[in-house]
Amino acid sequence: MTTPAQHLAVLTSQGRSERLLHVERVPAREARLAQWPEGVAPAVLAALLGGGIERPWSHQRAAIDLATAGRHVVLATGTASGKSLGYLVPVLSAASEGAETPGRRGATAIYLAPTKALAADQLARIDALAVPGVRAATYDGDTPPDERRWVRDHANVVLTNPDLLHHSLLPGHERWSRFLRSLTYVVVDECHVYRGVFGSHVSSVLRRLRRVAARYGATPTFVLASATVSEPATHAGNLVGLPVAALTEDGSPRGAMTFALWEPAADEDGRRRSATTEAAEILARLVVDGVQTVAFARSRAGAESLASNARRRVEFDDPLQAEAVAAYRGGYLPQDRRELEGRLRSGALRGLAATNALELGIDVSGLDAVVMAGWPGRRASLWQQAGRAGRSGEESLAVLVAADDPLDTYLVHHPEAIFGAPVEATVMDPHNPHVLGPHLAAAAAELPLGEDDLPMFGPDARRLLDALVIKGILRRRPAGWFWARDDRPADHISLRGVNDVVAVMETRTGRVIGTIDEAAAHGQVHTGAVHVHQGDTWVVTELDLEARTAHTVRGDPGWSTHAQSVSRFDILDRERSERRARVEVCFGSVRVTTQVTGFLRRLPSGEVLGTHALDLPERSLTTRAVWWTVPAEVLEASGVEEARVPGALHAAEHAAIGMLPLVATSDRWDVGGVSTALHPDTGLPTVMVFDGYPGGAGFAERGFTAFEAWVRATRDAVLGCGCATGCPACVQSPKCGNGNEPLDKVGAVTVLELALAPATT
Ligand SMILES: [Zn+2]
Ligand SMILES: [Zn+2]
Repeated sequence: MTTPAQHLAVLTSQGRSERLLHVERVPAREARLAQWPEGVAPAVLAALLGGGIERPWSHQRAAIDLATAGRHVVLATGTASGKSLGYLVPVLSAASEGAETPGRRGATAIYLAPTKALAADQLARIDALAVPGVRAATYDGDTPPDERRWVRDHANVVLTNPDLLHHSLLPGHERWSRFLRSLTYVVVDECHVYRGVFGSHVSSVLRRLRRVAARYGATPTFVLASATVSEPATHAGNLVGLPVAALTEDGSPRGAMTFALWEPAADEDGRRRSATTEAAEILARLVVDGVQTVAFARSRAGAESLASNARRRVEFDDPLQAEAVAAYRGGYLPQDRRELEGRLRSGALRGLAATNALELGIDVSGLDAVVMAGWPGRRASLWQQAGRAGRSGEESLAVLVAADDPLDTYLVHHPEAIFGAPVEATVMDPHNPHVLGPHLAAAAAELPLGEDDLPMFGPDARRLLDALVIKGILRRRPAGWFWARDDRPADHISLRGVNDVVAVMETRTGRVIGTIDEAAAHGQVHTGAVHVHQGDTWVVTELDLEARTAHTVRGDPGWSTHAQSVSRFDILDRERSERRARVEVCFGSVRVTTQVTGFLRRLPSGEVLGTHALDLPERSLTTRAVWWTVPAEVLEASGVEEARVPGALHAAEHAAIGMLPLVATSDRWDVGGVSTALHPDTGLPTVMVFDGYPGGAGFAERGFTAFEAWVRATRDAVLGCGCATGCPACVQSPKCGNGNEPLDKVGAVTVLELALAPATT
């Protein structure tokens, strides 16, 4: 029997000890057991006892009690803490008891998962319990028509996703009338996934569901679950639009965990080895040492390369063990996933590299160790991934390997920001007008909207409805607002925000190899772009914006391309502002106008082969932003003279974007930034960070409310970086439209210090 400390000793041998920056001991947790409550249906109780579940954990019991009493509840306890029993027991009890009453359909329930795979897993769990009277079925885009009819008419537990509610169940609610009349529970699993714009959409869909259910006389109880949501009552309440009680005291036992923070070695230029390469080495060493390990990468391509790299290393040490490492890409069929789980359980598979798709698809709990190649984006995801390690009560090991960017570098050097902080607030705005407006139209098409419906949709509902009437989408009558068109409004809304896409097509075969958001297309698949898609390289021969198609040929020319763009922003509405000692911080609506003007061709060595102009139209985005202004004379007095101002602001902007995820549930790609030495609206040097979605997504607003914490961490990250003039770990950005020019690292520290300066100076 080896321990995490011994595994760490293996990892740090042969001169690698300075890569280990911190070791945190996460203590074990004792089990707290409760009794099954009186109200559990006898058939359900028999199934539980038959399955060997003698008693519930305390949090499961509390959830059952609240849900049975009709209280909306969110279960926010750890990974593998048995949250599903907390909602399955009330759901199955209600379904089985009602079904026993002759001539009655009995209670019905909807279970919502963000993915089909998760719904399929839950169905398997319900089927395994085999409770008499429970007729559970999945219902998704793949369900054939006759099966759909059977589900609507006979099932009492329907497992589906928010997209299907939106596109099918709600618009066709008459066909579901018998099911909806008895709707008693709505379960929203993995509710932290519904954040940002997706969260705004799902919150509208759930309000539409409440309204349609009420039409049939049903007021269902909502039960939400997530292992990794902070302020669960707030988030769940925003999602369903009702007060929700939170259960956070976890009664399940957990073994102690050793958590290591790891930074790859740097070469003489200060360039660090990639997190993927470093993680592959760690994975291989653990596998050879007999430690069953899963390694998480941030992308599919990363997981593939991590697995093949680790496999080569393992094979080198022991050719017989090469088969012991595999990659998991997601999107597998259920039988493939079950087979992989089986090989893990039997020990034939000892190392697995995966993206976070694994978070929602296969059960790999109970491994010895978890390695994370790069910060997984949120403390919430970190704990979810780390929670995959730990066989029943035994000690486990987690290793976070820092990637070469400011947030990762900051975190591995500031363990208190990981271990001393709660998971970040899940940001979502149920009142985003760009999301809510179309859903109001969809709601009106489902059932005419009356005055009484407005409070459910928030304070802007009336204004948005008036605008829809002016556009001829709705018609106002004395009885309320009616859908005025022939088509279906739900067809115009995609919950996952992929409305305008450009198809990437192989010209020779006409095959579409992928799609890309129109907003990103100008920068990524412009004419002449070298585009990497799932590990293959393509050259774009023509971007046809009218046909929304990028024509490509396969092949790697040996260089990469980097789009250049110019951006500016207009301030439309200053909603909130705060005057600090040396700067003013604002939050509000802005219009960001960006034009991709050309691109660079660059060799892998970094050498620029040439720059090429492009003739693409401007794009504008109306969104929400946080910005701060600092007078030029204040900068000058602090040693940043006029010529250095653009580089100082630009570098501060990059680092601030990189660090925003510390306070909001965004990632670098959810937000953008613009900085300018003289902004026409403010008349001052200005740094601005904006949400990359029409109407905003809540990230910039978190930047405003948590300004101090955000800017302090940004300052520390830039100041703490060992490079001389700026690197990817501090002020360089992989998505810069100016080729990371100009950047002034020292000036950025001054800009950030001034933003933090206390009111007394
Ligand atoms: Zn640096
Ligand atoms: Zn930039």
